Amino acid sequence: VSAIGAQDWRVESLGRGVFLFRWQKGFYLSPFVVGDRGVTAFDPINAEAARAYRAAVRSVTDKPFLRLVYSHDHRDHACGGADLLTDEMSHCAVCAHARAAERIAARGQADVLAPNELLGDGAVLSDGAARIAVRYFGPNHSDSNLLFLFDTDAGTLLAWVDGVEPGVAPYRNLPDTDFAGYLRTLDAVAGLSFERVMGGHAGPDGRQWALDYRDYILCLLDSTAREFAASGGQVPNPGEDGVAMTERVRGEVTRAAAASLRARFGHWSGFEQWAPQTADRILSFLITGN
Ligand SMILES: [Zn+2]
Repeated sequence: VSAIGAQDWRVESLGRGVFLFRWQKGFYLSPFVVGDRGVTAFDPINAEAARAYRAAVRSVTDKPFLRLVYSHDHRDHACGGADLLTDEMSHCAVCAHARAAERIAARGQADVLAPNELLGDGAVLSDGAARIAVRYFGPNHSDSNLLFLFDTDAGTLLAWVDGVEPGVAPYRNLPDTDFAGYLRTLDAVAGLSFERVMGGHAGPDGRQWALDYRDYILCLLDSTAREFAASGGQVPNPGEDGVAMTERVRGEVTRAAAASLRARFGHWSGFEQWAPQTADRILSFLITGN
């Protein structure tokens, strides 16, 4: 891996035309691929990051932007396309899953370029020798997450933005996540062939991270269900109203559920802050079905 950069960004070569743009100011990263005809870029992040991203791409190639691909619809990854593409915007395809296109259109916000090319499971983005395989496993972190497989010098790299972030615990209360879909996608990923995995904030690191994420979620599901059953469910103590009871039960259950994972996962960044919040999200799944 060779790297060049400025104060707020770095670009790393992973070989076979695959590069990583790291926006160090905001803890975001996006891959891009330089093929025969041009550049396939992913998530522009936001206007400021996208200007750095463009400088990063231009530090390794003069080829035009062929495609901009959104990993999913969330604004913290999809904003800023106009600042990435600038005057090349009219020639560049903007690709996303159909659900991302629908959500972006429904929001009607000018700072996200509207997708004009839809991608689904099994699509292949090719440009000369460069080939990016696209997978869609249904709703998970959002209902529009596409997963990508890149060929690099270190083997196949899986990118699942906000799905697996190596080294970092799952984020807070899993905002916008379809919990059952997330588990199904973690199962599907365990059956894929790849050597390394990255998210949109961390990685790449070894394949084991994807398997460990699945274990983390399954262990937390287990411990949350167990602690909720042990709490006797949502039964008020004398003098407690519904709100007080809910907050007491959820606080006790999620703290205990998270604590039981500490020996195995406590060294993950964000574990102490986020594991109880993730357990709270799982408690909602147990109570409501999502
Ligand atoms: Zn997201």
